[in-house]
Amino acid sequence: MSQLRLHLNEHTGGCSPAVLAAIRSLTREDLACYPDYDEVTRACEGWFGVPRGWVQLTNGLDEGLKLVAELAARRSGVSHGSDTGQTRVRHVPDPALIVEPAFEMYAASADAIGLPHRHIPPEPNFRFPLEALLAAISPATPLIFLTDPNNPTGLAIPPGAVERIAIAAPATLVFLDEAYAEYSGRTFIGPALERHRNLIVGRTFAKAFGMAGLRAGALVAHPDTLAPIRRHIPPFNVNVVAARALQAALDDRAYVAASVAAAAESREMVYSWCRQRGIPHWPSEGNFVLMRVGDPTEPVVRGMAGRGILVRDRTTAPGCGGCIRITAGIVDHTRACLAALEDVLASRTN
Ligand SMILES: *Cc1c(COP(=O)(O)O)cnc(C)c1O
Repeated sequence: MSQLRLHLNEHTGGCSPAVLAAIRSLTREDLACYPDYDEVTRACEGWFGVPRGWVQLTNGLDEGLKLVAELAARRSGVSHGSDTGQTRVRHVPDPALIVEPAFEMYAASADAIGLPHRHIPPEPNFRFPLEALLAAISPATPLIFLTDPNNPTGLAIPPGAVERIAIAAPATLVFLDEAYAEYSGRTFIGPALERHRNLIVGRTFAKAFGMAGLRAGALVAHPDTLAPIRRHIPPFNVNVVAARALQAALDDRAYVAASVAAAAESREMVYSWCRQRGIPHWPSEGNFVLMRVGDPTEPVVRGMAGRGILVRDRTTAPGCGGCIRITAGIVDHTRACLAALEDVLASRTN
């Protein structure tokens, strides 16, 4: 029995058919050559509505946030690498700041490069801890990780907060992860990004585009901000299959729109199901919903897996005690998930 994967916010409806067609049209010669990113990068710049030079393609957004962590480490002197050709002395810098609950790769990327990190806990009901974050910033803070909308809560960063953080930390790299921006319909990319040269927006084609297996993401920032990243990036970091696929995906705007509409319908189904059962949950702007089924969550996650549906246990994430996160994308899959969850929760209380 194949499992329904609702644990990683993947697009369980798959990618656009145009993507598969583009991949099938690749020739043996195409695969034998190093990729050229000119056309696909222009297509991305068009998609994001930015001038030439503002988009750097990455091997998934995971590579993008690792590149940003590496740049922060070089700038703070923790890494032996250099942007000037001179090797700097290793010392312990101020920590990178991570607003919790957060995507795990932020801490992993900082750890990989030896960048210490400090975690800002959420306020009650996941209110964005703006004052605590501002108070934690020092002139030597190398990097701040932000996510809008948040994963796993699906909640937005309040209006104006990103600007306040960027202004309060002018010497700090501010990484704004917008992995779910297609669903939220909100992005920092635009005139505001022009004003804040310390800000880098991260985007992915894994979620709303349904291409998680291909590995394609992007960093979007002022070219001066991207320049020191570009000096250290492997020249062929995105493979030719992903590059060609992405170009086709960007041409099929209707497919992304349909993904976004399906997620909106799925989320409403989840909310009303939760409301009827008195299960706390949070209004999400992504293709997923966090809900508090109560501890212990492990038997719930195991019970769901026994019914062929993978969901994500988030009980150990800050503020997320007793919570699971389920993908809410394709409506039929959401319906199947809620039916199984009904069953699992009923058998737990008996
Ligand atoms: C899925 C996700 C990513 C990773 O995207 P990839 O392109 O698959 O590497 C990054 N950040 C957040 C918040 C995500 O949910």
